[in-house]
Amino acid sequence: MSSEGYSKDHILNLLREYSEEDLDPHSGKLFSHIYATGLRELEELAREAYNMYMDKTMLNFTVYPSILKMENEIVSITKKWLHGDKEVVGNFTYGGTESIFLAVKTARDYYISKGGEKPEILLPATAHPAFYKSAHYLGIKIVQVPINRDTLKVDIEELKERISENTCMIVGSAPNYPYGVIDDIEDIGDIASDKNIWLHVDACIGGYILPFLRRLGENVPRFDFEVEAVTSISTDLHKYGYTPKGASVILYRNRVLRLYQIYINASWPGYPLVNTTVLSTRSAGPLAAAWAVLNYLGEDGYLKLARKILETKKKLLKKLPELGYMIMGEPQSSIVTFTSEDINIFLLADYMKKRGWYIQAQPGSRHLGFPPSIHLTLSPVHHRVIDEFLEELKDATEKIREMPEPPARQIAEILGGESTGLEKIDVSSIMDMLGISEGISGDMALINMLMHEMPPKMVEYLFKHVVNELFTQD
Ligand SMILES: *Cc1c(COP(=O)(O)O)cnc(C)c1O
Repeated sequence: MSSEGYSKDHILNLLREYSEEDLDPHSGKLFSHIYATGLRELEELAREAYNMYMDKTMLNFTVYPSILKMENEIVSITKKWLHGDKEVVGNFTYGGTESIFLAVKTARDYYISKGGEKPEILLPATAHPAFYKSAHYLGIKIVQVPINRDTLKVDIEELKERISENTCMIVGSAPNYPYGVIDDIEDIGDIASDKNIWLHVDACIGGYILPFLRRLGENVPRFDFEVEAVTSISTDLHKYGYTPKGASVILYRNRVLRLYQIYINASWPGYPLVNTTVLSTRSAGPLAAAWAVLNYLGEDGYLKLARKILETKKKLLKKLPELGYMIMGEPQSSIVTFTSEDINIFLLADYMKKRGWYIQAQPGSRHLGFPPSIHLTLSPVHHRVIDEFLEELKDATEKIREMPEPPARQIAEILGGESTGLEKIDVSSIMDMLGISEGISGDMALINMLMHEMPPKMVEYLFKHVVNELFTQD
């Protein structure tokens, strides 16, 4: 930077230059991280609403009463789609992780208020890491529950066996992120109500699409407040609500439970701190944009977009097996995940990325018994490009078959198996070996293969140190 600052034009040019290597989220070529409608007017509206509220803080709804009004309207729409009655309450948060964190904290404090100690959460092996992270922050133990290897849903018998007097929450996903498969929420609900345990449904990725897929005739089992035992639900606006990033909703069965979420502090000389969520001062931009998008689309708009996704999904489910790929689980939502025993799908992801397509490599884990896979999160915009995508995928598949395998096993062996003490790992030489000393944006196949080969604890140790290096400043 310069001490006198740059001109507006210069700065905008710099930003364009900085983003030259970024993929374009509006290209329709990304199959994760983006939920694009392809509706130009909707995008403009979201941006305008965001800008209108950018400088207003959600911290104080007495200064900005419209913030309270918009939040209540958003929650009201959301809970109706998820069969919430008038008892159900909720809040707007800045993302799925925050919604999950709040649900975990609220369940913990409720459990402790009833005299509970040493809280534990029963978590399907396919559930999102945000639960481990929340439990880690909040001093809660995670008890992992294996999944059924055929259905990729949580194994109900295994779940039953792991319940203890310390279980403060059971989690089910609707659907899980890796495979787009919905856990049997009704069966989990029977167990939860039998033992009087909090049941959280993580509908972060499903909450705003499953109700519409069901209306279109898809096989969507009961997963929301329709199931009586469900205590709380997390659902992300910034996924299939198609709203700008920084928007999610957490819902509770009733307002007595939600009391354990709210934090108030009047024990200082300043303003009384009144927080429904984790963050305090934050822009109301995402809230206003979300409110605008919900009202712009309406139920009909969401249904129309869901239909586009459904048609795209059907094409993929027909074509992928023809190209030699195996679909994993029954894709009940808007996610299609595939694997292959003879095609290196990590090379495939790299090859496609060079062509501008982003398909998400999921390393799986040899140690945990999950194969490598490719995850596709479908957006309405894919409807327009899916034929072109499948053509490119066909071409890529042929090319990949002729490519040599990256030497992942050998490198994994050099790093040592489970026997190596983690502290003996020389992180900077590994970064050199993998060619990531200057940042990670090139070929990922070798890294993905290593992640598949190495024990998860070792991957976590290594990545922590790599990230610590990457975010080092002059
Ligand atoms: C995306 C997602 C989350 C986490 O949400 P963030 O918005 O990324 O914090 C949690 N659970 C599931 C199933 C998800 O798909």
